[in-house]
Amino acid sequence: MVFDAHLDLAMNAMEWNRDLTQPIDQIREREATLTDKPDRGRGTVCFPEMRRGSIGLCVATQIARYVKPGNPRPGWHSPAQAWAHTQAQLAWYRAMEDAGELVRIADAKSLRDQLERLQQPATRTGTSQGPPGLRPKTDSGPAIGYVLSLEGADSLATLHHLELAYAQGLRAVGPAHYGPGTYAQGTDATGGIGARGRELLAEMERLGIILDVTHLCDESFWEAVDVFYGPMWASHSNCRALVPHHRQLSDEQLKFLIGRGAVIGTALDAWMLVPGWIRAQSTPASTGLRLDHVINHIDHVCQLAGNANHAGIGSDLDGGFGREQTPGDLETIADLAQLERLLAARGYREEDVRQILHGNFLRFLTKAWSD
Ligand SMILES: [Zn+2]
Repeated sequence: MVFDAHLDLAMNAMEWNRDLTQPIDQIREREATLTDKPDRGRGTVCFPEMRRGSIGLCVATQIARYVKPGNPRPGWHSPAQAWAHTQAQLAWYRAMEDAGELVRIADAKSLRDQLERLQQPATRTGTSQGPPGLRPKTDSGPAIGYVLSLEGADSLATLHHLELAYAQGLRAVGPAHYGPGTYAQGTDATGGIGARGRELLAEMERLGIILDVTHLCDESFWEAVDVFYGPMWASHSNCRALVPHHRQLSDEQLKFLIGRGAVIGTALDAWMLVPGWIRAQSTPASTGLRLDHVINHIDHVCQLAGNANHAGIGSDLDGGFGREQTPGDLETIADLAQLERLLAARGYREEDVRQILHGNFLRFLTKAWSD
């Protein structure tokens, strides 16, 4: 079984207009003439492929950026619009629960139940009954468990919104994404978390929401971990020692996270795997990028830790890119299963391979949700 700690499933459904219940060939075919997104016709993620790769659990995001005047990035012009967009994404997750495609994982019991379901012989077993018309017509495998997370917190206009979101099932928050934010500064930005950030983190800690440190710029990272004592992970972050860019985590940051019991999910975005990748120019073939490069980042985390207890997968495979920007020997997300063989080839013991593929994130969640 593979636990994928970072997918933007609802973003793909609601912005890329992808019906993730369909086979990958059909999704690609319907996009063959579209040019509005860079990865059209080359997506790698859909539910059938996730099941084929035994990805029985994932962390799935709500993501909607709010941009203040003067911020050139694309995004909503008010937090209220961004919030409404996250609610549309939530409505899609609920629809997928009703269809038996997904099952929400938000506490220790739902996690245990999902692990039990995954052990059973293949039947579609969404917990929600849903309206009859929405139930699946065919048995195509077990519902995929998803932990709801928020990538970039600016859609939370007030702390009350965080409480509302928690009630809706939100269990992890990355305070910032790309650029400047209300609660923290993200990738390509600089600066600290300020009073708003400290308030958000205190409320997250009170509610038991996991802090996702991925995308925090260095200054915001160190300020956040200084004031937050709840569980923290890096859902999709690679190693700066291998790919020098501030989007990646430095050894100092990795060692700190390891000390805090964090798990670091390695991402499969090409530019984060090999140094010198030039967007829209480099290709998997021109750089020789293979799944083996993913193992380099996992191995770096394990070497820093001195064990295999802190590395995991946070593939980000549907994060706005497709096969043009992934390892050349990856056809779809189902190929995450190949990491098992590649880790073994690198000398990892069976037990350690299991920890990396799913065990570390499962242990993390079990502990985070134990009280
Ligand atoms: Zn991201």
